[in-house]
Amino acid sequence: MRYASHIADMVGNTPLVRLNTVTDGIAATVLAKVEYFNPGSSAKDRIARNIIEAAEASGQLKPGGTIVEPTSGNTGVGLALIALQRGYRMIFVVPDKFAGEKVAVLKAYGAEVVMTPTSVPPEHPDSYYSVSDRLAAEIPGAFKPNQFANLNGPRAHYETTGPEIWRDTDGKVTHLVAGVGTGGTISGTGRFLKEASAGEVVVIGADPKGSIYSGGPIHGYLVEGVGEDFYPATFDPTVVDGYERVGDAESFAMTRRLAREEGLLVGGSSGMAVVAALRVARDLPADAVVVVVLPDHGRGYLSKLYDDEWMRERGFATESTTTETTGSLT
Ligand code: PMP
Repeated sequence: MRYASHIADMVGNTPLVRLNTVTDGIAATVLAKVEYFNPGSSAKDRIARNIIEAAEASGQLKPGGTIVEPTSGNTGVGLALIALQRGYRMIFVVPDKFAGEKVAVLKAYGAEVVMTPTSVPPEHPDSYYSVSDRLAAEIPGAFKPNQFANLNGPRAHYETTGPEIWRDTDGKVTHLVAGVGTGGTISGTGRFLKEASAGEVVVIGADPKGSIYSGGPIHGYLVEGVGEDFYPATFDPTVVDGYERVGDAESFAMTRRLAREEGLLVGGSSGMAVVAALRVARDLPADAVVVVVLPDHGRGYLSKLYDDEWMRERGFATESTTTETTGSLT
């Protein structure tokens, strides 16, 4: 019989899927690494597993321990999955602006969620950083993964994402394009591919307009999970050969095209990365193989970038997806 002994053991080995229509006019092959095939629907399952295993090995996390992390997003889901498999208590500290579906997902996995006010600075005692530090210090046996500083995050991508891409392209990959949040994906995957190809693979960071990585100016933007206003320890900028700076409107338009045309219902950072990948691929010959990482699933964004009203309210163009009918639909 072929079965997994637990869903949490299904992390990694996500497929490469060729992009077919958004690549119109491009000679190179563009392959998407579809990370929503992970059991928590994002690439973050990889770092969650590695961070928890390393904490167990080092003795920071012991049986019956508690994991405390300030996160509302994909990292929380990944940590919750691995934690429930191994019997750890899980506490997430979340700014109240993220109340709603994301928090509901974490609770559905059995995690405890502590809400904190969004409108206080990080050094305030009620900020989500301060509260998570305090809980980690006060709860006996607590461990804080700290995804922006924990080098077991990028190592997960060095040990799994990179080798999978090298294996599945038979070593033919020529370019890697990925968004940069903590920088774990691009640093770990990029470093592996550079080593495997003796420095041949070109690594391009996709960055939202407004983020620090591609050179500022720093301002707000709506695409989630990527870009920063500081350099996290998990990001190794020496791995990156160049950046493509992508605006929200372009990111969201491409994300919606990926769903409608390619059947890839993904999040906004995936659309952003594909915009960058297509810019890179445009000038490449037919034998080039561009791999672009699509970090997460689109279901978490149905009431945002996939919602026409939400898009219009923010001044983004939409193709009309709602058909008005006078008769009844059966
Ligand atoms: N996209 C999404 C939706 C994410 O949640 C993240 C992680 N913050 C990223 C992209 C970027 O990945 P990384 O942290 O590995 O740079």
